[in-house]
Parts: sequence; structure tokens; C-alpha cells
Amino acid sequence: MSQPRKHNFGAGPCILPKNVLIEAANGVAQLENSGLSVLEISHRSPDFEQIITNARNLVKELLEVPDDYSILFLQGGASMQFCMIPMNFLNRNNTSAAYLDAGYFGQKAIKEAELFGNINIVASSSQSAYDYIPIDFHVPDDAAYFHCTSNNTIEGTEMFEFPDTGVPLICDMSSDIFSRKIDVSRFSLIYAGAQKNMGPAGVTLVIVKDSFLENVSGNIPSMLDYRIYRNSNSLFNTPPVFAIYATMLNLRWLKSRGGVKFIQTENSAKAQLLYDEIDRNPLFYGLAKRTHRSLMNVTFRMYQPKLETDFLAYVTEQGIVGIQGYRTVGGFRASLYNALPYESVKVLVECMRAFAEQNN
Ligand SMILES: *Cc1c(COP(=O)(O)O)cnc(C)c1O
Repeated sequence: MSQPRKHNFGAGPCILPKNVLIEAANGVAQLENSGLSVLEISHRSPDFEQIITNARNLVKELLEVPDDYSILFLQGGASMQFCMIPMNFLNRNNTSAAYLDAGYFGQKAIKEAELFGNINIVASSSQSAYDYIPIDFHVPDDAAYFHCTSNNTIEGTEMFEFPDTGVPLICDMSSDIFSRKIDVSRFSLIYAGAQKNMGPAGVTLVIVKDSFLENVSGNIPSMLDYRIYRNSNSLFNTPPVFAIYATMLNLRWLKSRGGVKFIQTENSAKAQLLYDEIDRNPLFYGLAKRTHRSLMNVTFRMYQPKLETDFLAYVTEQGIVGIQGYRTVGGFRASLYNALPYESVKVLVECMRAFAEQNN
């Protein structure tokens, strides 16, 4: 490559391992002696059967998905799940669903769900700019499900415990899936857009408990019906072949590195290094309440906001990209997804130190 790799702290689409990019590029040129590019193969071919089976098996192995769950690959991003979930599970007139309002994406999920039925917002942290995740709330027994977001990508908060609500638990894990161990058996449905921590944009992972799918009733358009995807092995129509291929390569990389357990330790070390500097450095402060600080997306600002432009210019010179905060939040957000090396966090921390020395 002509340029050295940047230190990519982008929130999504996010950094992927260099070797995965090279393997994906090779597959675009020619898929393992098939005489065809991965972009040219039929989604009904044995080659693709192998790819999607491998991808599914890697998801199952890495997340220890129990046998009574289906692993599906969909399109439409995590955002399409915002409407698919209520369409499938909130389709009887007399039910409501419970939602936790703890961030920008959860709020978007609520907005879509409200198109389909009665939505009960059991708790909200919107009054404090979503700097924490509510933990004290009651979910009514008759709710069709309870929906939450495990990691709030924009605000930089993460759920480290999931409530026992007595109703089916649905979770948007787009930005922390495969970053830490989770007990899949606690959830009725988990979903994640690939481009945060799993692969390139274009595919969405859904892990759903088979018995939960029995609750689906009514007339649902095929493309929005989970049962159709399960019954067709995610091959009801042409799936995003390349995105599934690159996801498979990335999960293989994760497995070769030691899996979720290994990466969780490394992710904790990366986050610790950065939060320690934020807390120590007189120029910076963190935006999320300490107990809810995300290990994936670290949000912070400077006590003197006018220095933020200079700091951004300074880190850009050092090869750092993607740390500008979300437009409604401001400041900085450093995303520390699985493929981001510890070394890159060190470079950022050194920049913070050097900048503090220049500006004290
Ligand atoms: C990025 C993100 C989304 C939206 O994902 P798309 O795939 O762009 O629709 C939803 N939820 C969370 C937690 C996200 O980080």
C-alpha cells in the first residue's frame, strides 16, 4: 500500500484488520481457484453455501449461541430492525412493547415501533443528554417484549448488566457485538448491523430464539418476516454476498486471535488506557457517567472548547482519523472496536499528553 495505515477511530463503518482487507481483495480478484470473483458467484452455488455456512458457524462458536436459536443474515442495516421487530412481534391490537430510552439509536427504534402499536417507555435518560443508562424501572408483565441497546454508540455508554424483566428481551448490539462475552440464552432476539464490529456495511446479523418466532402472526411482507429468512437459510432472495464473505473472514480473524474472551481483555486494556488519560489530563473530561462508560466508544471533551479545533488538527497530523464527536454531541469520540490496535490508543494518549504540555 502506498500510504501507511491511519489510526482509524471511526465509529462506523469501522476499522477492519489489514489481513482481512487483503483476503477480501483477493476474493474479489478470484475466489480460491474457482475462476470467479466472489462478486460473480451465484448465491445458490456450493461456494457461497460454504461461505454462509462458515459465517453462521463462526457466529455460533464465537458467541456460544445455543442450538435452539437461528442465526440470520439480513439487509437494511440495524435501522430496518427498528421496524421489523414491532412488525413481527407487536402485531396484535391489544399488546404493547416496552422500550428503554437510553440513547440516539434507542430513540429511533422507539419512533419506528410507535407506528405499529402501543409503546411503553419504561425509563429515559434523555434529560441528561443520555450520559447514563437507567437501571431502575418496571416492565409490565403483558409487554410483548422489552427492547434495549447494549452500547450507545453516539453517547458512549454501555450496559454491563441486562435486566430480568420477565418478558422477552430484545437487544440492539450493533456496536459491541463480539467485543465481550454475552449470555445469548438471556435474549429472545439480538441484532447488529455489521459495520461496527463485525464486517463491512451491507449485512445485519439477527440471532433469534426459535420459540420466540412462534409468536409471530398476521400478514407480514416476506422481506420483513423473520420466519421467511429462517426457513430459507437467509436465502429467500439474493443476500449481500460480499458483505457476508468479508464478515466471515473477519470472524475467522477473531477466532484466530483467541476469540471473544481474548479480545475482551484487549478491549478493556485499550479503554482503560484512554479513560485513565482523560481522567488524569487537565485539558479533558469524559462525557459518560463512570459506571456506564463504554469500552467501545469513548466520548470526551475539552474544558476549553476553543482548543478542540487545534487538538483535532494536531492528532490529524499524527495520522489519527475519526475522533470527531457526533454532530449533536460535539467534542470527541474515539471508537475502540476489535480491530483497532492497542498501539493506536497509545498514539492518541501520547497526543493528549503532548498537547497538554504545549497548552498549560
Ligand atoms: C450504527 C447503529 C445503528 C444503525 O445502524 P445501520 O446499520 O446504519 O442502520 C443502530 N444501532 C446502533 C447501536 C448503532 O450503533
